[in-house]
Amino acid sequence: MGLNVIMMGPPGAGKGTQAERLARERGLLKISTGEILRDALKEQTPVALVAKAKMDRGELIDDQTMIAIVRDRLMRPDAERGVILDGFPRTVAQAEALDRILEERDSGPLVVIDVVVPEEELVRRLASRRICSSCGTNAGPGDKSPACSRCGGVMVQRADDNQEVVLERLKIYQHATRPVLEYYRGRPTFRVVNGTQAPERVAHELDTLIDDAASVAVPVKTTTEGAL
Ligand code: ADP
Repeated sequence: MGLNVIMMGPPGAGKGTQAERLARERGLLKISTGEILRDALKEQTPVALVAKAKMDRGELIDDQTMIAIVRDRLMRPDAERGVILDGFPRTVAQAEALDRILEERDSGPLVVIDVVVPEEELVRRLASRRICSSCGTNAGPGDKSPACSRCGGVMVQRADDNQEVVLERLKIYQHATRPVLEYYRGRPTFRVVNGTQAPERVAHELDTLIDDAASVAVPVKTTTEGAL
């Protein structure tokens, strides 16, 4: 059976790094909405330019557009084994839409992980974060090389990682995305991980939490079905 994981957490919590590793190690499709949008911006279409203006200010793209993008990816054959979602859902409307899509797909359990990191640490991390301008890979902690370790591309600061925009993104996270955590918190497959630990430590804890949550998800689903 497939496994679906949502990586929740504020910007800079390290969810992208962990999502990448989990997808690779578990053979799941990674759907990172930030990456999809940044790729789409390279096309320079009118729609992309409107999206870019919003992203550069740290604002969210509208729910309808984001839900359509994610629905399209989730319906592809390579999503059948399961997905790791990074950057989605970011609003309660997106979370509700995701539940409906997953129900339609009749997919495996949905595990929700909240990566927790205090705000001062996030601001510090984002100020020094660099990504590859060609393939979008994040530089690892302490990696100061000007070239990407994966493709050799030039490492740059993301347009929305300057301090003013970072503070705006954190504000938007608090009012639009925090309620999504409340939406999921009561589920038996909701788990919290301390994102201030070293990446390997976070990875290790995540593996245990995900396996544990996925194992409780199955009986819960069966019991619910049996009760109907
Ligand atoms: P972060 O480092 O903040 O997690 P992402 O790379 O996930 O950044 O997203 C960058 C930007 O893309 C966001 O600030 C927002 O403008 C847009 N974006 C990404 N995912 C979504 C979404 N699910 N809903 C609305 N906007 C989104």
